[in-house]
Amino acid sequence: MTSSTPTVTGSLDLRDRSRAFADLDRETFDVVVIGGGITGAGIARDAALRGLRVALVEARDIASGTSSRSSKMIHGGLRYLAQGDVGLVREAATERQVLRRIAPQLTRLSPFVMPGSRSMIAKVRAGLVAFERLGKVPRDERHRTLDATELLELEPTLAADRFPSGVVYPEFLTNDARLTVANIRSAVASGATVLTHAAATHITVGSNGRADGVEVTGTLPGEHLVARARTRLVVNAAGPWVDAVRALEAPDEPARLALTKGIHVVVPHRRLPVRDTVITLGPDKRPVFAVAAGPVTYLGTTDTFYAEPDEWPHIDASDVRYLFDAMARTFDGPPISPDDVVSLWSGVRPLIAPPEGSDAAPSELSRRDEAWVGPAGVVSVAGGKLTAYRTMAERIVDDLVSVLGTGSLRCRTADVPLIGGDVDVGDLTASLGGSLGEEASRLVQLWGADASSIADDGGDVAAEVRFAVCHEGALRLEDVWIRRAARSWFTLEPVGSDLDVAAKTMADLLGWTPERQAAEVADCHAIHHDARRCLDELVEGAPVPAA
Ligand code: FAD
Repeated sequence: MTSSTPTVTGSLDLRDRSRAFADLDRETFDVVVIGGGITGAGIARDAALRGLRVALVEARDIASGTSSRSSKMIHGGLRYLAQGDVGLVREAATERQVLRRIAPQLTRLSPFVMPGSRSMIAKVRAGLVAFERLGKVPRDERHRTLDATELLELEPTLAADRFPSGVVYPEFLTNDARLTVANIRSAVASGATVLTHAAATHITVGSNGRADGVEVTGTLPGEHLVARARTRLVVNAAGPWVDAVRALEAPDEPARLALTKGIHVVVPHRRLPVRDTVITLGPDKRPVFAVAAGPVTYLGTTDTFYAEPDEWPHIDASDVRYLFDAMARTFDGPPISPDDVVSLWSGVRPLIAPPEGSDAAPSELSRRDEAWVGPAGVVSVAGGKLTAYRTMAERIVDDLVSVLGTGSLRCRTADVPLIGGDVDVGDLTASLGGSLGEEASRLVQLWGADASSIADDGGDVAAEVRFAVCHEGALRLEDVWIRRAARSWFTLEPVGSDLDVAAKTMADLLGWTPERQAAEVADCHAIHHDARRCLDELVEGAPVPAA
């Protein structure tokens, strides 16, 4: 197998930038989607599967916004029960099962263990019973209560004397960026045109007052490419930037979003050797967690208001201290310290703003999605969760189809496997294990069926890079390092020598000069070191205000 093998389904190769811009210019689309996060990707796939002519434009990389910064959980929706949102519980619980069917490689069942006092566990149990009934949870996936001994058998690092009881219930873990890439490639397989590193800079309006085009500008270093995609409808799925894109249509409209920031801290697994996922309570009684992820454990998350959307939201020392405090109350052994931290990431939730005057805390804001139609007909969508992206997309595309007058087209996204999802994960892992050992499992969990192509090409870092560039639209080093290959946050050496191998391979494929190659490596180092800056403030014992 070589990098130019043409048989990969939904292959996205964006190396010929002039041609990619010309492709966008040439056609008139039914719908142009702005934003290549999970929301835009889900809408593009659904619309393309229904036979609509679709284009998607993304300012940076696929999933470079919130959709690579989540806690990577496909939630059953238990927490919505506490907010009394039965509809959201039903939807989340059902979607778990759908995703498991269409993307088994991206839905890893993981026991969630919650320790607590007897009265707290009794309350959680009542919620779980209601949730399992509402969500039609299969019998063998229902919760089990635990006494102190059983709790420690499951999670031996828990502070033994603090928790008389607990509960264990299954949830799914995913890889958010890979789920988004799989949706984008599935859209491409159904005929969608996708252009990344191309920001929507203008929405053009026809003589009838309706949006009829999107102008985009290339954002790669030194690039001066522009295109105008003509279209019948425009969807704004720009996540935290939804209000900024709404302003392209109507500059004076009031903001609709409230942004809240969440951070995650990664430590070596040996420093916090949880077996699966432990859910505990933060100093303010919010649920926080520790998740085992191969060589590392990741801790999350926080929920604080954040003013403006940033590509790399600032991490405060107080955010990190909040998670450290929660872990110190939950686990035995020396507390986690700044020296233990391998890496960190942050993201902002694009939530629907509460009514003016509301004093709701960030964690009390609704996670429901909403859509609005602007004065020129642009459909803007925000809120929601990764978990329910597919049903959110279905509702939006149902509306698009009825506006376009092609109402007979049925949604097929729950039935057609996502790219890479037509696979028996266990069988493929076993068959690749002979040559790749433990690496086989990582490759299959990230790429599903496409892991075979990467294995045939050598199964190493360079093979991952070749696949990401030639078939998954990667154009910058961080596109591979952070998102396609998930190496930046989930390996013990996020910016080690493998990063240089990846950069050299990309340079060969993309014709980079030595200076450009060095700049790409430096960017990855800068992302890593900027996130760590907050650790300098966490001098042992220094008072840090609570998050
Ligand atoms: P984004 O992923 O941000 O996508 C928007 C895209 O639009 C970006 O890629 C951006 O570059 C692009 N864009 C912006 N402006 C333009 C422009 N002018 N032109 C072209 N493109 C543009 N959900 C769960 O279900 N489970 C979880 O465990 C979970 N954990 C979370 C933890 C945290 C800390 C956070 C912050 C969120 C979490 N979520 C979780 C929620 C989930 O991640 C989000 O709901 C989801 O990722 C939002 O996706 P999106 O596509 O709307 O936004």
